[in-house]
Amino acid sequence: MLMKVTPFKELLDQYSFVLFDSYGVLKNYEGIIDGVAETLQYIRTDSNTYRILTNDASSSPGRLSEKFKRGGLEISDHRIITSGMMARSFLSTKTIEGKVLYLGTESSSAYVLEAGKERLSAADYAPDMLDEIGCIVFLDDEGYDWHHAMNTVVNILRKRSIPTIVANSDLLYPVRQNEVSIATGALARLVEQVLGRKFIHFGKPDVQMFAHAYADLQEGNPDLQKQDILMVGDTLHTDILGAIKFGIDTALVLTGNTTEESLEVAIGSTGIQPDYVCHSIAF
Ligand SMILES: [Mg+2]
Repeated sequence: MLMKVTPFKELLDQYSFVLFDSYGVLKNYEGIIDGVAETLQYIRTDSNTYRILTNDASSSPGRLSEKFKRGGLEISDHRIITSGMMARSFLSTKTIEGKVLYLGTESSSAYVLEAGKERLSAADYAPDMLDEIGCIVFLDDEGYDWHHAMNTVVNILRKRSIPTIVANSDLLYPVRQNEVSIATGALARLVEQVLGRKFIHFGKPDVQMFAHAYADLQEGNPDLQKQDILMVGDTLHTDILGAIKFGIDTALVLTGNTTEESLEVAIGSTGIQPDYVCHSIAF
């Protein structure tokens, strides 16, 4: 392998602020990755500080914090920044005439409620409700029948020109070793393709979540500079690309989407070059 592998602990001496992706960095299909709890404990007791940046609109930060806790990780919800929060912010500031039709679980629709908007599950939509819908939001790949929901959205958007937002643009997520499942972003792309339209996408590699984390960290640290921050992720085209666009340094870990075997080809074919490669964030 051409790229040198750096022990993660060495990077903590160089960066006082760390942004972690969640899936493939802190946890995987089996649960919390070995050594992660010890690393976060070290960061908390050391002078470093951290945030989690996740392309996830399936649950609120509070629910995600509870899930981490069940897996043995203490991460308070104020440290968790989700793509669902970016969608919520859009929904709360944008004038929307009518209900928000959502594709996702009941849990994911909390983002719609928190934005102060009225929600309707795609599963409960009937054609006579056409004029009641003011916005469509893709939140999660679960909680509805895909076939029915895709046809519903296509038929609404053929007749109505309303904002449609995608709160998680990921195409796939791993469910087992060597097995993936289709994610929300892929369903949204299907509809975009069919209608020849482009929806409003949230989540990495867009820089919004990075800007949110930066503003959040700056509150307690007014002298914060971008060069003090390191983004740690397992995916080149979301975590690493987004951080490069925002202007902060990057470390790619090999505990998720990118493996030691695929590393050189992945970097070579995408042209997305992390500053560091680490086996994992474990010491
Ligand atoms: Mg990931």
